Amino acid sequence: MKGIFLGTGTSQGIPVIACECDVCKSKNPKDNRFRTSFFIQSSTTSIVIDTGPDFRQQMLSNKVKKLDAVVFTHEHKDHVAGMDDIRAFNFIQKKDMDVYASERVQLALHREFPYVFAKSKYPGVPRVKLHSIEDDVFQIGDIKLTPINVTHYIMPVKGFRIGSFTYITDAKEIEASEFDKIRGSEILVLNALRKSEHISHFNLDEALAIIDEIKPKKAYLTHISHLMGLHDEVNLELPDNVEIAYDGLEIEF
Ligand SMILES: [Zn+2]
Ligand SMILES: [Zn+2]
Ligand SMILES: [Zn+2]
Repeated sequence: MKGIFLGTGTSQGIPVIACECDVCKSKNPKDNRFRTSFFIQSSTTSIVIDTGPDFRQQMLSNKVKKLDAVVFTHEHKDHVAGMDDIRAFNFIQKKDMDVYASERVQLALHREFPYVFAKSKYPGVPRVKLHSIEDDVFQIGDIKLTPINVTHYIMPVKGFRIGSFTYITDAKEIEASEFDKIRGSEILVLNALRKSEHISHFNLDEALAIIDEIKPKKAYLTHISHLMGLHDEVNLELPDNVEIAYDGLEIEF
């Protein structure tokens, strides 16, 4: 399978509006970060994990022509705000978009996009078909996903394991039984906000401690704040098997 980091930035993105810091003013494209999202392409199926506010531009920049499903990790705006733009795929593919989300996230989608779920719909609104994610393995086309429950301060978030690949964003805690689901991952994507502590996200040291315990062949850090520092400088400080992801980075798994 192919994976593309569509976005690797925290909720504000980078550059942050009106910020004059070195990272926000950096000329290195790797320091420009859309809101966090990930694209997965198998031989038959393409899915996106989260549709943040940059979804439209992410689809355009990465020339995504077909999308079979959207999978949501949690209901924060930086992960769901772009759902309106799945309309483009409704029109081209002539069908409802399959959307996979926990019951809790589905409630939030009804709240945030009431017009999508209205009984009598305005013409042209997004058309979605909701599917519930619980704790069991679920399948989209030929992609089999195992949900991993993590905690983001007080909010539950779903991570996903697909074979030996694991994708976790917006986590601050992973309890032992869920942690066991990550063991044996060869490629591990984890959120790491910045170097200093944060109430709802792993910081760099916390993410590195988990990577050290799992010992994947390769780990990528995502959901990065401008406070993390310059991409190229921070990358040099990391262990050999760890890299800060950047927008557009493609991986195979
Ligand atoms: Zn987020
Ligand atoms: Zn900045
Ligand atoms: Zn969040």
